[in-house]
Amino acid sequence: MKKDIIGYDIKMLEDTLEELGELRFRGRQVANWMYKHGVRDFMKMVNISSTLRAKLDENLIIGKLKLADKQSDETGTEKFLWNLNDGETIESVLIPDGERLTLCISSQVGCPLDCQFCATGQIGFKRNLNSGEIVNQYLQADTSEERRITNIVFMGMGEPLLNYENLLTALRIFISDEAIAFGAKKITVSTSGVAPKIKKLAEEGMKTGLAFSLNAADDKLRDKLMPINRRYNLEDNLKALKHYAKLSGRRVTFEYVLIKNVNDSLDDAGKLAKMVHGIPCKINLIRYNPVDGTGFEAPDDDAVLAFRDYLYPRAPAVTLRESKGSSIAAACGQLRGEYVKNELGSK
Ligand code: SF4
Repeated sequence: MKKDIIGYDIKMLEDTLEELGELRFRGRQVANWMYKHGVRDFMKMVNISSTLRAKLDENLIIGKLKLADKQSDETGTEKFLWNLNDGETIESVLIPDGERLTLCISSQVGCPLDCQFCATGQIGFKRNLNSGEIVNQYLQADTSEERRITNIVFMGMGEPLLNYENLLTALRIFISDEAIAFGAKKITVSTSGVAPKIKKLAEEGMKTGLAFSLNAADDKLRDKLMPINRRYNLEDNLKALKHYAKLSGRRVTFEYVLIKNVNDSLDDAGKLAKMVHGIPCKINLIRYNPVDGTGFEAPDDDAVLAFRDYLYPRAPAVTLRESKGSSIAAACGQLRGEYVKNELGSK
């Protein structure tokens, strides 16, 4: 059976070429074609001898995701539904914002963490994505020269830090100059708070951005909204985030989804301001996009603005992010990995 090498980092490719009796640097050549030029046909790798190309073709393949569905909305947001080889499905979302074009990537099929407001959490956990399935979401969405992806966020389906090794391999491929060469500063890993893995990621020295999906500034409420907090509480996570900020030299981002009458009061804003005091950070406020079956509602505009105005300047940098794509169930927390009707407000 042919070996699928998509998602192999440079070292894995060098090892593979060596196993085939070739010089290790050939692995870097293959990486260049596969990741920089998106070439999946070995016969088109023209700086490699025709004998070696035939050998590669005989032993290896470069796998692809199958596009099952693609939807877009009036904001230019596009949602891709991908079929995986075992019949599972995942989603990625492309979000335009001025000069930026951000790709939101999934890391797992479903998610084991059961955050109470999230559609992905409702479907439960099926499996981790391998590094090829992660990287292919980028390679297959980034198809046009005029419309290049400028930022990558791991905010799709799943908790990336619970798929740590595959995440790491994918990050190496994104960042490596000999592979995709996407700037580490333009990549953000988002986590619901797996404190030991935040520390570990800090020590890898990759210097990617880190976003912490906070959503509640006290343990009592966070325990309810995000059960992972019962395992790693705010104190554990804040320590890990400070460690990350120190080692990476970068501010961490706190993502705070505002949910009506749950976490959108001025009292909540006060707790949040106090909590982040002394941490190099920025805070992204996001209006909740309702998900069927959760019982949660979007906040009132007045409450959102009052929350933001209370928070800033008490907290260092605060932005109110408009979450795009809700009409195609592509907004934050709405991904299910299934076909959805393209109706406004259908979720
Ligand atoms: S918010 Fe993230 S971590 Fe929580 S259930 Fe949804 S996908 Fe999983």
